[in-house]
Amino acid sequence: MKEILTVQLNSNNINDSLWKNDANYLQGDFKMKNDEYYMKMAIEEAKLASSKNEVPIGAIIVQEDKVIGTGHNLRESHQRSIAHAEILAIDDACKQVGSWRLEEATLYVTLEPCAMCAGAIVLSRIKRVVYGAKDPKGGCAGTLMNLLEEERFNHQVEVDTGILEDECGQLLSSFFKELRMKKKHAKKQKEDTGI
Ligand SMILES: [Zn+2]
Repeated sequence: MKEILTVQLNSNNINDSLWKNDANYLQGDFKMKNDEYYMKMAIEEAKLASSKNEVPIGAIIVQEDKVIGTGHNLRESHQRSIAHAEILAIDDACKQVGSWRLEEATLYVTLEPCAMCAGAIVLSRIKRVVYGAKDPKGGCAGTLMNLLEEERFNHQVEVDTGILEDECGQLLSSFFKELRMKKKHAKKQKEDTGI
């Protein structure tokens, strides 16, 4: 895709206005395709969480088209309230690049960041955040409040939402549905055996 864009930009034979429209279209298209590609990777991370009976939330950090950090929710496994996907991915990225500053990085996460993760994202100076599903109970990147674009902080983060939103949301709702069924089943078994 990048190659196609370069060819278009270098060509002198294309009508000027058409050329601009095409370049804009390709740039937008490229960005969206790239976002979907990396969000799919974040979804794979989320699936790793659910395979460990964790709420399926996954995050990926990308810099210059390279994945520099990954993380998935491990709150139950680690019994740590801070073991969120974004925090673990940020930690991983900082180790990879040897710096706490992630100024050129984009963080992809399947669920809107909470207050803690939004704080960590601002503090690590991440350039852009792309999230899938909105979190009506804890989202601090536009739903309950918007800490990422808060102008009183010394750093603001670009936010893009809704990339593979349905897929990200579906992952969470199926997990909770299954959890409810498991609980119901366990309760019934308890009643049947009278233990
Ligand atoms: Zn969080």
